[in-house]
Amino acid sequence: MAALFDKGTETSWDVVVVGGGPAGSATAMTLARFGRRVLLVDEQGGTRPKLGESLPPVCVGLVKHFLGNIEAPDEVQCGVFRAAGNVSVWGTKQPQTTDFFFTQTGFGLCVDRVAFDEALRTKAVAAGTILHRGLRFESCSRLADTAFNWQLGFGPGAAVQRTRYLVDCSGRRAVVARALGGSMLETNDMLFAYAQWFETSGPDDDPYTRIEAGPHGWWYTNRLPGVQEGATRRLVVFHTDKDLPQAKMAASPDGFLQLLGSSAHIGPLLEQRGYRPLGAIRGASAKSQRLVSFCGDAWMAVGDAAQAYDPLSSQGIDKALRTGSHAGHLIHYALSDGQVAGSELGQDNHYIGQYVMQQQQLWQSYVSQRDFYYQTQPRWAEQAFWQRRRSPG
Ligand SMILES: Cc1cc2nc3c(=O)[nH]c(=O)nc-3n(C[C@H](O)[C@H](O)[C@H](O)COP(=O)(O)OP(=O)(O)OC[C@H]3O[C@@H](n4cnc5c(N)ncnc54)[C@H](O)[C@@H]3O)c2cc1C
Repeated sequence: MAALFDKGTETSWDVVVVGGGPAGSATAMTLARFGRRVLLVDEQGGTRPKLGESLPPVCVGLVKHFLGNIEAPDEVQCGVFRAAGNVSVWGTKQPQTTDFFFTQTGFGLCVDRVAFDEALRTKAVAAGTILHRGLRFESCSRLADTAFNWQLGFGPGAAVQRTRYLVDCSGRRAVVARALGGSMLETNDMLFAYAQWFETSGPDDDPYTRIEAGPHGWWYTNRLPGVQEGATRRLVVFHTDKDLPQAKMAASPDGFLQLLGSSAHIGPLLEQRGYRPLGAIRGASAKSQRLVSFCGDAWMAVGDAAQAYDPLSSQGIDKALRTGSHAGHLIHYALSDGQVAGSELGQDNHYIGQYVMQQQQLWQSYVSQRDFYYQTQPRWAEQAFWQRRRSPG
């Protein structure tokens, strides 16, 4: 494999997918199953923990489509386990339970992202994708008068790659779209997530995702799959606006624990079960964002690169897998359509146009759902965090 990427060796592909998260693996796997020559690159080795653990019942079928029987004994490495539902303290002080038992699948999923993302990449490779890790996309330029539309640069020492079609699955950074001059739609959203892992040697078999609104933002916590070195782990995430004083507090270990101590349910739950903080606090943007243009000539963005959601929606991974599958099909059909030249692989292409329409519809329905949920939380009406969400701009 290394030889493929040594400087001086140039290789050509039908499709290069930049980013090996759920969107990248789903897109690459779909294209490879059609027999396309696909290269999937990721700058990470794949062991850096990511946020995003809770999948609603509607996503279970999709996860099975990509990963197979997730509950078979030889599939234990998938990093998923059953989740019973959500307990939310949102519009009132009383906890409300949404039980997944009464849904079609009867359960949702909680995922360990390192194992889950790895399982998806493994399936993409099994379908015929060539995966290269530790390769950072740096640049792309258009090729004229050849069968290939793009020449891609992956930094000093790595060979130039050529491809007919380029897919940006690089997450919120949208590195390909930005390299091509793409920009994000302007919004006033400054939502930021502060995540702290906790561990306990005591028992915790809580199968629910717990959500709690507070005066300056909202929390969620999930128990993570499995037991590591005799300890059970839980992730606790606080969301607030980056410009509020509570954001600065949440970024420091003492401030985070102080804010957690003032929560009505999640702080006491951790204390009762003997949880202690583990490792450093991690910050990540959680604002709603979308590209102005989801596609251009012979390229498109998929997953968070195209549009990224407020974690309140719990829809990010579902959207990454669903739109990855859709994108893979439509790119294959567009490339099959009479060996079209590069100029015909833009938004005017019948298939690519369908993808753009799907992305626009997804964004509209996401924004109205998000606004609806925030407006069902009437408390702390005088606080900036909630005022901003009562009259979203
Ligand atoms: C606080 C928080 C909580 C969340 N909770 C949930 C939840 O409960 N449920 C849910 O469904 N979703 C949740 N999400 C959203 C979910 O994590 C994302 O929607 C999902 O990870 C998107 O997948 P993706 O493949 O599009 O992008 P990512 O998972 O971000 O993958 C992008 C990949 O691109 C690679 N990359 C980036 N730049 C380059 C480059 N230059 N060259 C090569 N590779 C590159 C990265 O290494 C990465 O592996 C949450 C998000 C946040 C911030």
